[in-house]
Amino acid sequence: MEILLTVIFTLLGIAVGSFLNVVIDRLPAGRSLVLPPSQCDACGHRLSPGDNIPVFGYLWLRGRCRYCGTRIPRRILWVELLGGILFFLAFWRFGLSAEFAITAFWCCVFLVIIFIDWEHKLILNKITYPAAVVALVILAIDSLLPPPGLFTGRIFMPETSILSGVIGGVIGSGFFLVAALIKPGGMGVGDIKLGGLIGLATGFPLMIFAVLIGVIIGGLVAVALLLLKLKGWKDFIPYGTFLAIGPIIALLWGNEILNWYIGFF
Ligand SMILES: [Zn+2]
Repeated sequence: MEILLTVIFTLLGIAVGSFLNVVIDRLPAGRSLVLPPSQCDACGHRLSPGDNIPVFGYLWLRGRCRYCGTRIPRRILWVELLGGILFFLAFWRFGLSAEFAITAFWCCVFLVIIFIDWEHKLILNKITYPAAVVALVILAIDSLLPPPGLFTGRIFMPETSILSGVIGGVIGSGFFLVAALIKPGGMGVGDIKLGGLIGLATGFPLMIFAVLIGVIIGGLVAVALLLLKLKGWKDFIPYGTFLAIGPIIALLWGNEILNWYIGFF
């Protein structure tokens, strides 16, 4: 049963990844997420159900449009695979639970942020604002439920998850606001909002871990790009892409690491 559910949720993650690709393609351009149905962006040919099968469709067509031969961006495959992998990890970690659903949801939100910032150097309000509202709703429901509420093993401040989320949001956005003030041009308004969202989604104190991971990954990549001379000091680096990796890792494993760390004292 467990194995069957794991397979089902992994496939669901791949299918959801396929939808996230539509979001990543269309949201920055302000196009409808529903209409028109999937079509090749180069030749406009409507895709058949067979072309549309996630992962396998891409591999079967060898990453090219069946009708005009234009290359399909490799990102399509990546996001589908990542959707499957993250759903698999979340189910493996939390089992059939509210925490699994919440973690899977945040993986989707941050995957979209990662790839839109990478491709367009944008963190869209159209994503951060509604996501912040969803975060508050989740935290409000959790505050009303008897412990452990929606989060089985999370170290929120006892029974005050809404406070934990709000404090997380304030610290998260405050951190990047200070960073933006210290070094103008590095962090943007989008990063400040993203920091707030990361705090709301993961809560205090887990958000410290989430932000730290994002900052470290972003810093390492920036240094690597400079050393390899792929980017110069003046070039723009989409930090949101790296920052948004933080909460995914923190939600999946941060709690375990924090518990282990606290148990140390
Ligand atoms: Zn085509």
